Amino acid sequence: MTPEGKAASAPPLPLSGDAQSRWEEADLQREVRRVFGICESCRMCVGYCGSFPAIFEAVDRHGDAVADVGKLTPAEVDRSVDLCFQCKLCHVKCPYTPPHAWAVDFPRLMLRARAVRAHERGVSLQDRFLGDPDRVGRLGCAAAPLSNWVARLRPHRWLMEKLLGVHRDRQLPEFASETFEAWFRRRGPSRPRGPVQGRVALFATCTVNYNRPSIGRAAVEVFERNRLEVALPPQRCCGMPAMDGGDVEGARGRALFNLASFRPWVEKGYDIAVLGPTCGMVWKTEYPRLAGEGQWAPPRDRVADGSEVLARLLGSGGLDTAFRRPLGRIAYHVPCHLRAQNAGQPAAALLRAVPGTTVESVERCSGMDGTWGMKVEHFEESCQRARPLVEELTAGRPDRLVGDCPLAALQVRQACGRAVEHPLEVLREAYGDA
Ligand code: SF4
Ligand code: SF4
Repeated sequence: MTPEGKAASAPPLPLSGDAQSRWEEADLQREVRRVFGICESCRMCVGYCGSFPAIFEAVDRHGDAVADVGKLTPAEVDRSVDLCFQCKLCHVKCPYTPPHAWAVDFPRLMLRARAVRAHERGVSLQDRFLGDPDRVGRLGCAAAPLSNWVARLRPHRWLMEKLLGVHRDRQLPEFASETFEAWFRRRGPSRPRGPVQGRVALFATCTVNYNRPSIGRAAVEVFERNRLEVALPPQRCCGMPAMDGGDVEGARGRALFNLASFRPWVEKGYDIAVLGPTCGMVWKTEYPRLAGEGQWAPPRDRVADGSEVLARLLGSGGLDTAFRRPLGRIAYHVPCHLRAQNAGQPAAALLRAVPGTTVESVERCSGMDGTWGMKVEHFEESCQRARPLVEELTAGRPDRLVGDCPLAALQVRQACGRAVEHPLEVLREAYGDA
């Protein structure tokens, strides 16, 4: 049977349920079966993750396809929900997303299923821990470098695995002794080099703030070199880790804080520059929903990845192209969540502007996807999913590995021992400033 036939037998419901029905298990199960039915006929996304094979195998086990989507057990549905790590690739590729009448949004449906589960059973300790990187980061940085030493102790990792569900072999990001925010405040007012040609309010992200402040410092220095004034409004985690664990209210609270904090800056003419692809995607696609209908969220074109801000300058002739150091052969990882923003490859465009530099882009999933790859139950699969990416990135022995996502970088380093630099760190070096 064609997907058309299946859709006709299962009339479309609102994308994520309306306000009344969104939290109802029966309504969710109807929507799950409607979408699974369409996917079962299509099967295009079977290779992206374990979520689709889990559905198709269950359907095949039950026999006749149409009847069996309806017969999937709650445990079979749950398995598919758990195996989705929110890379969004299926959404990018799916021909049946809105405005198509079938309104398939598979990743959002998986988030809704997790939210309903958390609503009914509560948010697990594992998801509460992984869903609050601000708390973990504040504590870890306050106690660094001791916290980094402790984090490597085997008995501590065993305990973390048993209590918090973080796999004992997952290499964790190191805590910085000085956060990016502390560095920015200590440094004083922004110092653009020459007449200002734009203003950016930086959303640094938790990973940059607590674990990789060098990326934030590079961003500020490269922006200022390009005559952009930089502000750092008060901010919290974007909310995606909370949403991953089904804690929609936790995600909404963080979204409302960030929106209130950045709104005055946007109204003063600042664009929001985000230093992580996942958080950028959340700002662009989730904040308007989390804020609620009729509430303020920045226009999509006022939010950009850090590299996107500079690539726009490159396009308009405003980028300082006085590069002094060649960068050699770069293998560049295009993160899934940048692809989900439909933002092209701004970092690759920037790096190609540096003389003596070649860039090979690799569009593959790291299998890390926020905290999913840290969980004890997904660690092995996460590492397996990273293999094609790591093989492609390192084939041909490039001089450098570069990527926008610090968590994907962690995965690559764990797999092959090579560091992945952020495009803005590399660009600062090309200017001869590093
Ligand atoms: S998400 Fe879309 S493209 Fe992927 S299997 Fe389902 S219907 Fe097909
Ligand atoms: S968002 Fe990624 S992990 Fe989730 S179902 Fe789609 S392809 Fe699979």
